[in-house]
This record gives sequence, C-alpha cells and structure tokens, in this order.
Amino acid sequence: MLIDSHAHLEMQEFKRDLEAVIQRAKESGVGYTFTVGTEKKDWERALEIANSHPSIYAILGVHPHNAKEIDDQTYPMLKEFCRNGKVKAYGEIGLDFFRNLSPRDIQLKRFREQIGLAKELGLPIVVHDREAHQETLEILKSEKAEECRGIIHCFSGDYDMAKVCIDMGFYISIPGSITFKNAESFREIVKKIPLEFLLVETDAPFLTPVPFRGKRNEPSYVRYTAQKLAEIKNIPFEKVAKVTTENALRVYRLE
Ligand SMILES: [Zn+2]
Ligand SMILES: [Zn+2]
Repeated sequence: MLIDSHAHLEMQEFKRDLEAVIQRAKESGVGYTFTVGTEKKDWERALEIANSHPSIYAILGVHPHNAKEIDDQTYPMLKEFCRNGKVKAYGEIGLDFFRNLSPRDIQLKRFREQIGLAKELGLPIVVHDREAHQETLEILKSEKAEECRGIIHCFSGDYDMAKVCIDMGFYISIPGSITFKNAESFREIVKKIPLEFLLVETDAPFLTPVPFRGKRNEPSYVRYTAQKLAEIKNIPFEKVAKVTTENALRVYRLE
C-alpha cells in the first residue's frame, strides 16, 4: 500500500471525474489520500470529499498565496471545520517567495499565527516553503514548531535543512518532481535523507511525475515517485511503500 500524503482533490481540475480518480487510486494501491483545502472556498469541499470517502482525509489551512485574504472570520471558521474527525493536519501554511501572491510581511505574520492555531487545535502542520528556506526555518524554530511537528511538503531545501527539520520532529515529503530529468541534485539530497523520515506525495493536480509530465496529476501516480525513490536508494519498491506508509500513518496519527 501507498499513501498520497498531499493532493488537492477539491480543486476545479477534479470536478468532472473525481470518483474515477479516487477509484484509480484504490486500484493502484493508494490506500489513503490527504486532500488539502488551501483557502476558504475549498475547505467545505475538501471536508465533504473526506466525509464521503473512507480512503480520503482532509487537511485545512490558509496557503501563503492566500495569506492576504485572512480576516476576523477566518480562524474561527477554520477552528470549527477542524473539529471534524476527518481533519488530520493543519495546512498548508508557510512562505512562497517565488510567486509572492501575498506580500511577504503578511505571509510571515500569518505563518506564525497559524502555527499557534495548529498547536491550539492539537494538529500537526503541513509546511509549504518555496524559495524561503531560511525564513521558514527561522519561524519553525522561533514558534517552537517541534511542539506540533508535521511535514515539510514538496521539499526543495538542501540536506542540512532536511536534517534541522527532522531534528524538530518533521517528516520530509517528496513530490513527483524527483522523477524529472533535470532533478539530479535533488535526487542526490534525497538519497542522503533516511527513508524513516520520508513521505511521498503528488500535490495533484500539479507536479506530475514522468511518464505523465505535462498532464494533470492524480493520486494514483504517486507510485512513480515511490518507484524513483526505490531506484535512488537502491532498495525494493515494497520497502519504500511500507516505510513511507508507516511514516504517513504516524505523522497523521492514524496508527
Ligand atoms: Zn504547497
Ligand atoms: Zn499543495
């Protein structure tokens, strides 16, 4: 069995054929998928999908892209939604200094606040960090994120960063981009990170792995990422499946 630790099934891209997508995931051995509602309009839908499918769980929070939309009603509403037993983590939260869709100072402030909220809710956090490694680490440390722990999703840092995160109790989640031809240096980093701290994810509909690169991503494709991981580490696919599944069950507290 495999677990897709991070996807966005509530997004528009899956509106037409969601049931078929979920069915294909099951048929390819993906036991659970965690769908991440990143903004107000998606929370209810993510929860609805999770509530109507035993193989789907939800993660809710405000993405750094949407940090500027947070108002007085946002956190009370999120708290209410997160009381649902199918919500297994808080996120994705963090910093995106690549696209900068929200001003940086607002991203920093909302990231800090949401770590506090996750702790209050007793949920692990899912962290999004794009071109903001140093600032992400600083906030994780200053906000004592080791108290809630969680996942660095779509990890793109170096080995030293992975090590600091692991020491704080975080898992490192690997997306389909590990299969890309130009990802040689990323593969070198991942090779050094022990399997005991790794998860696999699709981030569907984005980051589609080879051989489907360019098409829409979906949870069933997480196996290409796991296969690449097995190849890089020179271990059997079954071992990658087993250990990354155990890791995901542990961090999302489904054991
Ligand atoms: Zn992300
Ligand atoms: Zn995502």
